[in-house]
Amino acid sequence: MPTYEYQCEECKNKFSVVLSISEHDKGNVACPKCKKKGLKQLVTPFIAQTSRKS
Ligand SMILES: [Zn+2]
Repeated sequence: MPTYEYQCEECKNKFSVVLSISEHDKGNVACPKCKKKGLKQLVTPFIAQTSRKS
């Protein structure tokens, strides 16, 4: 599954989460520190490598 990186707009905490595509589409990610949902997604250049196993 791809890893997404986020930065919280509230407390500037940066963190990464592993989400399925559908979970990511729902946008249900909250900051683990302050539980806010105002998150900015950061670019992760290494997404493709982990999910290629066919
Ligand atoms: Zn936060």
